Amino acid sequence: ETPPQDTEIRQLDENTVARIAAGEVVERPASAVKELLENSLDADADTVDVTVEEGGTELIRVADDGHGMREADVRAAVREHTTSKIDGLEDLESGVATLGFRGEALHTIGSVSRVTIQSRPQDGDGNGGAGTKLVYEGGEVTSVEPTGCPAGTIVEVDDLFYNTPARRKFLKTTATEFAHVNRIVTRYALANPDVAVSLTHDGREVFATTGQGDLQAAVMAVYGREVASAMISLDADDLPPGPLESVSGLVSHPETNRSSREYLATYVNGRAVTADAIREGIMGAYGTQLGGDRYPFVTLFLEVPGDAVDVNVHPRKREVRFDDDDAVRRQVDAAVESTLLEHGLLRSHAPRG
Ligand code: ADP
Ligand code: MG
Repeated sequence: ETPPQDTEIRQLDENTVARIAAGEVVERPASAVKELLENSLDADADTVDVTVEEGGTELIRVADDGHGMREADVRAAVREHTTSKIDGLEDLESGVATLGFRGEALHTIGSVSRVTIQSRPQDGDGNGGAGTKLVYEGGEVTSVEPTGCPAGTIVEVDDLFYNTPARRKFLKTTATEFAHVNRIVTRYALANPDVAVSLTHDGREVFATTGQGDLQAAVMAVYGREVASAMISLDADDLPPGPLESVSGLVSHPETNRSSREYLATYVNGRAVTADAIREGIMGAYGTQLGGDRYPFVTLFLEVPGDAVDVNVHPRKREVRFDDDDAVRRQVDAAVESTLLEHGLLRSHAPRG
């Protein structure tokens, strides 16, 4: 029999495994921002303030006034596969209402950065009336102490990838990393107009929504007055046959467009997603009204029956496919086209040539 020391195959230690896994969940600062923001929304926050420094590479701070955590929960939150959101697979099959459910975000982010969590439950009963401050660094809890903090949760991520130099080197410029952060926070701000979401970069406030529940107002806060005034509202439940039950939101006048797809903010059952079928439906409706490679501003919410979408996809995957892409494309096209037509914004059935 071969003695064990001769084997080439070794068991990786837990920390190495966590760092490898982190590379899949946390690709760049924006992915950490996404996870923290989702946690704040899942905690029913009314206000979420996102602050980043140097595109998020130096600091990411997400502060919310959500339900907060007691000390035992703060400690549990950074462990692997710990979640308060589901009990088992059957909860996933019936459709999850929360954005997170894997219970891996805080654990993995903390294995490649220094995470400081301050939290105090809304319903009192914190750490002797105070909150809890926990530091989790490179995969280890290095301190837990009582702290004075507002009810809710503040998570800070310092020096992302400090212990994974290869990944750190892979990061792009501050401007590029911030553009990714901005896109993520914008997506969630638009999807949650009833939550006041702010974004600050290197001390400058980039936008702040009011949280009054008005989508048009949220669009104005993130894209500015000019774009907001070019948006028309769409509300279609009388769609051609297909999986979508309804399509609603805001679409821009054709002449308010950009050369980037980034302003196509599309959601399925409240989740920010991209899908070829949705994009093609939108672009089909605008048709030749847009020049080549130009895209409108669109904030569209698509509803499909809960059991018709699989949310159990890879954490980074935002791309979804439908069983019947053609039907979805026709439905989106019809919803957008009829809205543009109603507003006299399409030259409909114009003779060609
Ligand atoms: P998941 O979101 O998949 O459950 P996370 O690692 O992101 O996993 O978070 C673990 C747990 O920590 C959550 O299930 C939740 O109970 C708690 N938690 C994390 N962030 C917050 C927050 N901002 N407010 C309240 N609880 C939080
Ligand atoms: Mg989460």
